[in-house]
Amino acid sequence: ISGILAIVGRPNVGKSTIFNRIIGERKSIVEDIPGVTRDRIYGKAEWLTKEFRVIDTGGIQLADQPFRDEINMQVEIAIDEADVILFVVSGKDGITMDDEYIARLLQKSRKPIVLAVNKVDDFSQNDAIYEFYNLGLGDPIAVSAAHGIGTGDMLDEIVKAF
Ligand code: GDP
Ligand code: MG
Repeated sequence: ISGILAIVGRPNVGKSTIFNRIIGERKSIVEDIPGVTRDRIYGKAEWLTKEFRVIDTGGIQLADQPFRDEINMQVEIAIDEADVILFVVSGKDGITMDDEYIARLLQKSRKPIVLAVNKVDDFSQNDAIYEFYNLGLGDPIAVSAAHGIGTGDMLDEIVKAF
């Protein structure tokens, strides 16, 4: 095992869809049904001879707690457990305040971060990635987890960081 990848991001950006793509099974529940069992958020993946574990932190939820507490906990788990963090945002929504909040938490960590702009479903939407340079986390990578576009480039960046 080369290391652990943790997936973080606000709800509905496509973390679980990406997780399922990376591990090649439908394990994590897409669309944030609360109360998912813990084993659903852990998976194993392989890319370019490297094997790694994957955590979908969005599936780790706190009952009846403010959203920020939940995000704080998810990011804390990612920073503690992971060797590489995949930060997922949505090209359909652009940068939101929650994205900026998470970006600031991640910047304080020393962990390598790969920034995936999901929901870029075709090339005509590719310009949507540029505003995400403003998060200060490096080069955004266009991905469409739903259509399986860009996930290879994203995985290349992930395994480089292990
Ligand atoms: P999570 O809350 O971050 O885990 O997000 P989910 O994986 O549950 O996805 C939230 C919604 O976005 C679902 O309706 C998905 O089908 C949709 N979605 C995920 N990836 C894509 C994508 O690449 N393109 C589009 N258009 N929708 C997507
Ligand atoms: Mg999810």
